[in-house]
Amino acid sequence: MTEKIRRFLDERRPATPCLVVDLDVIEDNYLNLNRLLPAAKIFYAVKANPMPEVVGRLRSLGSSFDTASRGEIELVLSQGADPANVSFGNTIKKETDIATAYALGVRLFAFDSEAELEKIARSAPGSRVFCRVLVECDGAEWPLSRKFGCAPQMAADLMVKAREHGLDPYGISFHVGSQQTDLGQWDKAVGGVAQLFSILRERDVELRMINLGGGFPAKYRSDIPPLEAYAEAVMGAIYKHFGNAIPDIIIEPGRSMAGDAGVLQTEVVLISKKDEAEDKRWIYLDVGKFSGLAETMDEAIKYRLCTPHDGGATGPVILAGPTCDSADILYEKANYELPVDLKIGDKIEILATGAYTTSYSSVNFNGFAPLNTICI
Ligand SMILES: *Cc1c(COP(=O)(O)O)cnc(C)c1O
Repeated sequence: MTEKIRRFLDERRPATPCLVVDLDVIEDNYLNLNRLLPAAKIFYAVKANPMPEVVGRLRSLGSSFDTASRGEIELVLSQGADPANVSFGNTIKKETDIATAYALGVRLFAFDSEAELEKIARSAPGSRVFCRVLVECDGAEWPLSRKFGCAPQMAADLMVKAREHGLDPYGISFHVGSQQTDLGQWDKAVGGVAQLFSILRERDVELRMINLGGGFPAKYRSDIPPLEAYAEAVMGAIYKHFGNAIPDIIIEPGRSMAGDAGVLQTEVVLISKKDEAEDKRWIYLDVGKFSGLAETMDEAIKYRLCTPHDGGATGPVILAGPTCDSADILYEKANYELPVDLKIGDKIEILATGAYTTSYSSVNFNGFAPLNTICI
């Protein structure tokens, strides 16, 4: 937690649950990634945290944007982004939204199927396109496999078709899965893309761009390699597979940009046991799966918690949210322990919650308001 967030929580005492995002951390993360991967152009994945202040700060630093919908495109343009620096990166788009994006000046579009390519050809003529290929997401804590991407052979055929349709066959993208902890995944994926460059060169299509997607981590409960190691793995893979013919490089970080910029403060609503003979306590918080912590689904993302009693004796707990849905349990199997002194009314801070929280919060389930988010 940054000094700035600590001071804000102490002095302002916002009603909980409340997510506080430190824009200076977003800035540091952007500058750091830019320093470590100077050859890559950063397209911030807006879905990670779509607060206008976050987008605005990144825009002022020179970031480009990866968007998934008409709403996200309008958001980044309203924050002053140049449409030339916006990618419509979702492979599943309504044709009317493609047309709107094109009318707004967007000229870079993703696809992974023939039908989507035809929509782009009709409604965004002459645009740059990139094809997303399927990759394994082994090692990712939040995998993005199966739903997106096509087989490499299909990508090759579609890029030839893209040219026949009068589009600019710009490059290939992939995403190794979010919160990727296996640095070897980029080598495999980049190797596959380099092969596609060769195959297409023989078919007279000269690709010029590789889009490495996201996957860079935030710090949750487990240790992660330093960002330097990620940068080395990525650039090592590029040099190994592309030699001296390095294409344009795009990266689309979301989690690594916004994750550790946010702290979610919550209050303990109830502490109980289901049976006096059990030593496991149930700790019910005023935030849960439906108010921002969706990534605790299957206990995939394991957040770090801070309490006022840290350092004292701890005991095993099950953590749950406040709603009347039994799916609203955060951690039951992940062996969380909290101080035995914890009491109802105590504040708990959930760290590194700047990504994939605010935008996942439901509108009014059980009458609970969407997660209040404050950028400072
Ligand atoms: C979600 C998403 C990202 C961001 O991924 P992170 O792992 O959060 O960095 C990047 N690109 C695309 C296409 C995405 O859907």
